[in-house]
Amino acid sequence: MQRAHAVTPGGVNSPVRAFNAVGGSPRFIRSASGPWLTDVDGNRYVDLICSWGPMLLGHAHPEVQAAVQAAVSRGTSYGTPTEPEVELAEEIVARTSVERVRFVSSGTEATMSAIRLARGFTGRDVVVKFAGCYHGHVDALLASAGSGLITFALPGTPGVPASSTELTLVLPYNDRAAVEAVFAEHGDRIACLVTEAAPGNMGIVPPDPGFNAFLAETCARHGALFVSDEVMTGFRATREGQWGLDGKVEGWRPDLVTFGKVMGGGFPAAAFGGRADVMSHLAPEGPVYQAGTLSGNPIATTAGLATLRLATQDVYDHIGSAADTIKAAASEALSAAGVAHTVQSTGTMFSVFLCEGPVRDFTDASRTDTTAYAAFFHSMLDAGVYLPPSAYEAWFLSSAHDEEAVQTVLDALPAAARAAAAAGGAA
Ligand SMILES: *Cc1c(COP(=O)(O)O)cnc(C)c1O
Repeated sequence: MQRAHAVTPGGVNSPVRAFNAVGGSPRFIRSASGPWLTDVDGNRYVDLICSWGPMLLGHAHPEVQAAVQAAVSRGTSYGTPTEPEVELAEEIVARTSVERVRFVSSGTEATMSAIRLARGFTGRDVVVKFAGCYHGHVDALLASAGSGLITFALPGTPGVPASSTELTLVLPYNDRAAVEAVFAEHGDRIACLVTEAAPGNMGIVPPDPGFNAFLAETCARHGALFVSDEVMTGFRATREGQWGLDGKVEGWRPDLVTFGKVMGGGFPAAAFGGRADVMSHLAPEGPVYQAGTLSGNPIATTAGLATLRLATQDVYDHIGSAADTIKAAASEALSAAGVAHTVQSTGTMFSVFLCEGPVRDFTDASRTDTTAYAAFFHSMLDAGVYLPPSAYEAWFLSSAHDEEAVQTVLDALPAAARAAAAAGGAA
C-alpha cells in the first residue's frame, strides 16, 4: 500500500476501494474464485463486493473464462464491426425495453452519451437528477442541490466548472411534488430527467410504487426524455433489471437506458440504448456525435455475452434466496445487539442501513451511523468477509455464493453487530 501511495493518489484507482470511510488499509487481492477472494498474504474472504456489481456468476466462472480465452486467441481488438457485439446487443434488446444499443467502455461514458443524445434529440439543455443518485463521474452530474430546491445546482467537486452544472437541477428522490414543481417551472427547457432505476449508490432506496411510471409520464407530458440508469440494477435486480419489476409489469418503458457492470462480465463494457427513433439521432445515422476506440471490444463483449447467456432465472433465484438468508441474519444480529438498522431491497439487491427506516431519499440515508459501520465492517473483515468499505453501498452476491460462503457470513454477523453497538450504534 505504501508503494501504491507513492505512485497513485490515495493508492487506489477508484476512491471507493480505499478504506478512508472505515479506517485501515484495503487488501491487495491476488486471485478470486467463485465467492472467494484471496489476498497477497494468502487470506481468504467471502466477497460481498463482487467488483461493485459485475461478478453476477462469481469469479473465474469456467464457461466465461473459456469464452474469453478463446476470444483472446483470435486477437484482442480490430476497430471493425464484430459478431459478439451484435450478439450481445441482441441479448440486451431481448431482455430489456431498449430497441437499439450503442456500446461504450464505462457506465460514466454511457450516461454522458445518453445525456448528449437527449439534448441533441430534444434541442433542449436542462437535465434533472436526484440527490444521492450516482451516474458516474460525468461533469454535469457531479452536482449537489443548492440551498433552495428548483435552483440550479452547484458543482459537487472541485474541477467541475459552475458552467457544467448550471443546467442541472437536483431534486430529492421519491418526491413527486418536487418533480411536478420543477417541470411546471422549467418544463420547456428540460432535455431529460436521469435517475437510477432504483438508487443503489446511497444504499438501496427502492422507488415508491409507481414512482418510475410517474417520472416517465411526466417527462412524456413535457417533451423531455426519461433516462433510466440501470448500470447497477441492469441484469442484477432481476434478469431484466429494475424495469422487470416496474415498467415491464406496468406497461411503460424509458426513452433511454444505460447499462454497465454485469453486462461486461468483469471487463470494461457498458452501453446506452432505447427508442429506435431517439437512437437513430446518433452518428453515423444521425447528427449527434459519439465514438470510442475500444467500444464493443470483442473480449469485453464476449465476456458479457457469456455472462448474460448463463444468467438464467435460476441464477437470480439463487442470489435472491442467499440474499434473503443474509438479510434476515443481519437484521436478527443487529436487533439482538440493539443496533438501529433497516434492510432495504429491490429484486435480488439489498443493503443494510445503520439507522431507523424507512430510507426514502438521500437525507434519510445520511442518518446512517458511519462510526458503527466502520466497527461492523472491520469485525466482518477479521472474520473473513469482505464488505464494501462504505456504509452507503449495496452488498453484492453471486450465483457462486454457496452454503459455505453464506454460512461464513452468518457466523460473522453476531460479533460484528456487537462491535457496531459498542462503537455507538446502540438504539
Ligand atoms: C457504477 C455506476 C455508474 C458508473 O459506471 P462506471 O463504469 O464506474 O463509470 C453509473 N451509474 C450507476 C447507477 C452506477 O452504479
